[in-house]
Amino acid sequence: MQRFYFAKTVSNSKRFPVMCGKIVLVMKMKLNDIKTGQTVRIIEVGGEGALRQHFLDMGVIPGAQVTLIKFAPMGDPMELRIHGYELTLRLADAAKISVEQIIEEKKTEIKKTERKAASHPGLGEEGKYHPKGSGNPLPEDEVLTFALVGNQNSGKTTLFNQLTGSNQHVGNFPGVTVDRKDGVIRGNAKTLITDLPGIYSMSPYSSEELVSRNFVLNEKPKAIINIVDVTNIDRNLYLTMQLLEMNVPMVVALNMMDEMSGNGGAVDINRMEEMLGVPVVPISAAKNEGVDELVSHAIHIAKYQERPVYHDFCENNAEGGAVHRCIHAVIHLIEDHAQRAGLPVRFAASKIIEGDQLILDQLKLDQNEQEMLEHIVLQMEKERGLDRSAAMAEMRFRYIYKVTDNCVTRPEKSKESIRSEKIDAFLTGKYTAIPLFIVIMGLVFYLTFGLIGPFLQDLMAAGIDKLKTLTEAAMQSAGVNQILRDLVVKGLFEGVGSVLSFLPIIVTMFLFLSLLEDSGYIARVAFVMDKLLRRIGLSGRSIVPMLIGFGCTVPAVMSTRTLPSARDRKMTILLTPFMSCTAKLPIYGFFVNAFFPGQSWWIITSLYLLSIAVGILMALVFKNTLFKGEAVPFVMELPNYRMPSLRNVMQLMWEKSKDFLQRAFSVILIATIVVWFLQSFDFRLNYLSDPHGSILATVAGLFAPLMAPLGMNDWRIVTSLVSGFMAKESVVATMELLFTPQGVAASLSAVTAASMLVFSLLYTPCVAAIASIKRELGAKWALLVVLWQCVIAWICAFVVKLIGG
Ligand code: GDP
Ligand code: MG
Repeated sequence: MQRFYFAKTVSNSKRFPVMCGKIVLVMKMKLNDIKTGQTVRIIEVGGEGALRQHFLDMGVIPGAQVTLIKFAPMGDPMELRIHGYELTLRLADAAKISVEQIIEEKKTEIKKTERKAASHPGLGEEGKYHPKGSGNPLPEDEVLTFALVGNQNSGKTTLFNQLTGSNQHVGNFPGVTVDRKDGVIRGNAKTLITDLPGIYSMSPYSSEELVSRNFVLNEKPKAIINIVDVTNIDRNLYLTMQLLEMNVPMVVALNMMDEMSGNGGAVDINRMEEMLGVPVVPISAAKNEGVDELVSHAIHIAKYQERPVYHDFCENNAEGGAVHRCIHAVIHLIEDHAQRAGLPVRFAASKIIEGDQLILDQLKLDQNEQEMLEHIVLQMEKERGLDRSAAMAEMRFRYIYKVTDNCVTRPEKSKESIRSEKIDAFLTGKYTAIPLFIVIMGLVFYLTFGLIGPFLQDLMAAGIDKLKTLTEAAMQSAGVNQILRDLVVKGLFEGVGSVLSFLPIIVTMFLFLSLLEDSGYIARVAFVMDKLLRRIGLSGRSIVPMLIGFGCTVPAVMSTRTLPSARDRKMTILLTPFMSCTAKLPIYGFFVNAFFPGQSWWIITSLYLLSIAVGILMALVFKNTLFKGEAVPFVMELPNYRMPSLRNVMQLMWEKSKDFLQRAFSVILIATIVVWFLQSFDFRLNYLSDPHGSILATVAGLFAPLMAPLGMNDWRIVTSLVSGFMAKESVVATMELLFTPQGVAASLSAVTAASMLVFSLLYTPCVAAIASIKRELGAKWALLVVLWQCVIAWICAFVVKLIGG
């Protein structure tokens, strides 16, 4: 039944802890001191907490070998190769890692292995794992729930889209802004698969990791589909080892097999199944190969609840067996507690040995037991000569290397990684990276805001206009009353029309963003820009949403979804509104033309610089207040460049548009109608033909004195600013309307115009942006953003007024 990729593996090199060949030790130093191209071995991983755990989970463990590939163009961070993949690390973090130099005297040749096809009567198939007709299947009508778990960039999204087609539901995990996608597996109505966030481990240190493990522990899916990138198998199996401990029926999907076999590598699937004790199915998600077989295995193990055959991966003779004895002692110690808490005992034991407070609390050990636990672990640390976290990570990698040595024939060097190296010579090159980044972003901007976006916008505006004229004519001939007609025409069509004009921008922006993200370029951007953003307390990843903010805040906020840390996501969202969006340009143009003709160049440049400066200032404030102290692990993988899949790109564009439209037709529509109402009626509910005397004007009049220190004690200005909340473009139109007949230029002084410019630059983002912020951070934060942006705008405008006299 198996079609491709089999091997008889004869590899027997001792890959762990020494790669190959004879090795001579030279000297001890810190990882940040090594030279480009140098290979060293890690002897100690310093640091503490989340960051250190993250290092270990990514394979930065004592004994592992690392090669320095390059430094980022600004000198920091560094790109390393470890366990056959590329990892980036900040120098300050690298300084906590001690390494020793190694000189390879002789390289062992990679043995060419003879491959032959073999059938794959795998686990999780009826007739093999349990005799045909026996077994205890779940009832027919029970929905088989699956969790899809895997590393980032392992092809999870691609597989999920293959499995479910367009039948997906996107939501949030409760309490966190981590995307949750559910879908029904095609052709299997009684299934539900949930795409969990891309993670490297089941540690409790990031919200993604917590979400994933709580999902498995609490929502109890019937089975796990663990997707593993076979071209990066060592690190990917690290997560697999932890999933196995959870004792949930599981199938491993070995993805990217097309690349693996294309490069002459192979996997002995049958042997791997034996060693892991779960079904292993080779697939290529992008090419839709092996996916059907994966589904049939997954459904089988879920239906018959076939759990992993074993999960005892600590070898009793490895390094004196200290870790093995420790784990088993702890298992016996907590068995009853784990049962009561409903936790898989092996998983709970590993986690509390690693020092996981959450699991420890759940177990409710009494004082004696806690002390016993501590003694057991201390004894292990003493015998093993490594601390608890490192010892556990090393134990897992030890088994992983045993599995891969036995089952995997690695290609010498893959075409994809050679290609990536060549591309990276430019895209992360010392002198070329930043210019190319500017060119690429410039192109994306030009296409989105200069070419495709406006074209689609015009098309849509024309359509809406047509519809509007038709409706108006129809209502007129039907004798519909004036107020209702205006509500539909001015409120609905114009309001919704202006909101819908965002849609083409969102679609186009996400087209390019998903191309950049899926190809692997965004990770490079983060690598190149990290040093710059770190100064303001963020990591390189945040540069992209912030840049998009100069185009439009809505897609900028939406694009923060891809940021790996919740803290960074929040902070970036709060900063993007400070990047002056294109919708504000008409305001600048209008005022500069009216008041400062011929000086537009420097005025508009200064406005942009001012908004960036205020943004940086805010970032520094945030860094030292709201987001103080939290370490931001910037330990990131640089995946090989890959061809983005059309289906993923389309799916993302569709999701983002749907998401935006849902908001457009709820929050934004209501806000539009409310403003229309306030503008069109007075307090006695008389319908007005222009906003003089309207409720809005009256209320604006009450607020106008607040603006007096800015020289803007005028209800017409306040009214225009409120209409700018709907869409920034309408500030100018409203002002022109309200200041007839004498005209804006004749009514305001140059200083007032200047402070008005600064105020409109910085005050609250438009309702569409606020709606996106609310979606990501909740109503409280959205309201806060409105308020503090207004306060900041007020202060800056006041300063301008003071200077101007
Ligand atoms: P995720 O981060 O785990 O969701 O990974 P994605 O699904 O976004 O995939 C990352 C990249 O790998 C995309 O460019 C995919 O097109 C590509 N990809 C996914 N599966 C395969 C595969 O089986 N073979 C190849 N060659 N590329 C793949
Ligand atoms: Mg993805």
